[in-house]
Formats: sequence, structure tokens, C-alpha cells
Amino acid sequence: MINVLFSAKDRNWDQYHSVIPEACAELGLTINMTRDLAPSAVDYIVFAPNPALTDFSPYTNCKAVLSLWAGVETIAPNPTLQQPLCRLVDPGLEQGMVEWVTGHVLRYHLGMDAHITATDQVWRPEPAPLASSRRVTILGLGALGAACARMLATLGFEVNGWSQSQKTIDGVTCWSGADGLNTALARADILVLLLPLTSATSDILNVDTLALMPKGAFVINPGRGALIDDVALLDALDTGQIAHATLDVFRNEPLPADDAFWHHPRVTVTPHIASETRPETAARRIAENIRRGEAGEPFLNLVDRDRGY
Ligand code: NAP
Repeated sequence: MINVLFSAKDRNWDQYHSVIPEACAELGLTINMTRDLAPSAVDYIVFAPNPALTDFSPYTNCKAVLSLWAGVETIAPNPTLQQPLCRLVDPGLEQGMVEWVTGHVLRYHLGMDAHITATDQVWRPEPAPLASSRRVTILGLGALGAACARMLATLGFEVNGWSQSQKTIDGVTCWSGADGLNTALARADILVLLLPLTSATSDILNVDTLALMPKGAFVINPGRGALIDDVALLDALDTGQIAHATLDVFRNEPLPADDAFWHHPRVTVTPHIASETRPETAARRIAENIRRGEAGEPFLNLVDRDRGY
């Protein structure tokens, strides 16, 4: 019997308590997954941050901590966590992000607001240009960024992407390094942030980098709030350097009612709903990592603790 400790919020237990054992059974694995196990008996921990488990040191026989979240910036730095940490890469999460990003890119590209919010009965026959004359830049070409980049390229956008290591993606011009970032930003009529939050990416969109973007560009942030220097973005919105921003993630969530982003006329706030893990598909990924752990095979989506993602 494989003992799995499920340590996450009540809502997560409701979502996952049956689908993870079922996904394991499909792989021929019988697991005992509960919310309460003697630490020394635990083989794996399925985890999302919660106050009940902040010290991983008693789990001496635990082969891996399997995150229910894609972003692990609050988990990876925990010094008591010495077990391998796997983040969640989930096809459902990926599809949801592709749909959300594509929708918001198309909103800006097509200038939808002009007609949706117009109340003046003025006939404005100004069609949008085709996607081929709109440049979209995606910072972060991992599981989510690359999927979005492919979809936007398929729709005909001129897509530039930037990542730590140099990538090759059909239809996407890929950049890396500091010069690559500058070039990618200079081509960003619409900028999408899909970087993880690390010491290297914190405040990556700041006074200097915002100034590199074309005047009147759009910003879409489904990555993490602290990728953006909030004050710099608000200034850029006020000067028109940035025409509009759609923000799904914030330094403080839920976003406080008095936060300037709620009240800015050129900001759309969405409440961290760009995409979420889907229990059925996510459970299969978790089961596959348990299978790998039992077979002595390398885990999928292992977090590099030095890089922080
Ligand atoms: P991922 O697969 O780890 O990809 C991260 C990408 O960022 C990789 O391409 C990586 O480069 C690049 N990167 C990291 N540090 C960099 C640096 N210093 N310079 C340049 N590039 C850097 O992550 P993912 O699954 O795509 O998820 C991305 C983020 O989305 C998550 O970390 C999370 O914060 C956010 N997210 C948000 C929601 C939401 O609902 N809003 C949902 C899920 C996830 P390499 O490829 O070279 O390593």
C-alpha cells in the first residue's frame, strides 16, 4: 500500500479525494490517501499551501511533494522542504490559460471595448487590422506561455517570446538573455506575462522595461502580481505609454477594495481566474509521478530549487 498524505484546503479535498486514487488505480497503483497520517508512514504528499503543514522535516520517508499548483514560489523557498518538489503541469490548466489569454489578446486586438462600452449612438466604421500586423510578446515560454504562443501564432499574430533558455517554437520568434528581452519588449504591441515569480523575475516590468515598449501598448498579466512594479505601471497608464492593462494576479490577493488598480479607468481586474487546475486531468499527472516514484524513474516537472521554478 502506498500512503499519500493530502495536505491542502478543504475545497481541494472535495475536488481530489476520489479522482487521485482512481487515476492511480488506472496505472495499477493502490494508494491510501488521507488527510491524517503519521509523518514517518507518508510516501508522498499531495500539497497546496495551507497552515496545517509548514514543516516538512518529520516526513523522513516521503519520496516527493506533489504540488497542486503550477506556481511554486511560496513552496520552493521553504528550508524544511528537502524532498523532491514537483509542480503541476496539467493539460486542463494549459487549455484554460490558452483560452483566457487568447480572449484578452483578441479584446485588445479587435478594439472590442469601443463598441461594447459606447453609449453615444455614433457609427464608427473602423475595422481592426488583421492579426498579422499585430505583434504579441509573451514573457515566459514554459508549459503555459508556449501553449499560448502557439495558439496566437496559429491565429496569425506576429508572436515573439522570451525565456531563460533559447527555444524553438514553430511560428514564434524566440529570444533569451538581456538583449533578447529588450528586443521582445520593443515588439510588444500586446505583452503577456507568463513567467514564474523568482528573484530574477520580480519587478521585471518596471520603469525601464515599460519604456522599451511601443507607446500605447497593452499589458496582460496572468503570471504573478509581483512581476510588475505597480507604481511604474500606474504611471505608464497615466502617461499613455501603456494604453490599458488586464491584471489577473496581484501582490495582495484578494485585491484590497481601495487598491488603485480597481479604480483606474484603463485597468481591468480579474480575480485570479485566468486558469486553474482541473481535477480529472491534474489527478492523472499526480498519479503518473507516484508511478514514477515507485518505479524509480525520474519525476516529471521537478522544481529546480536554485532557479526557484
Ligand atoms: P514553466 O513551465 O515553469 O515556465 C516558465 C517559463 O518562464 C519558462 O519558459 C522559463 O524559461 C521562463 N523563465 C523563468 N525564469 C526566467 C528568467 N529569469 N528569465 C527568462 N525566462 C525565465 O511555468 P508555467 O507552467 O508556464 O507557468 C508560468 C506561471 O504562470 C506560473 O509560475 C504561475 O505563476 C502562473 N500561473 C498563473 C495562473 C493564473 O490563474 N493566473 C495559473 C497557473 C499558472 P526556461 O523555459 O528556459 O526554463
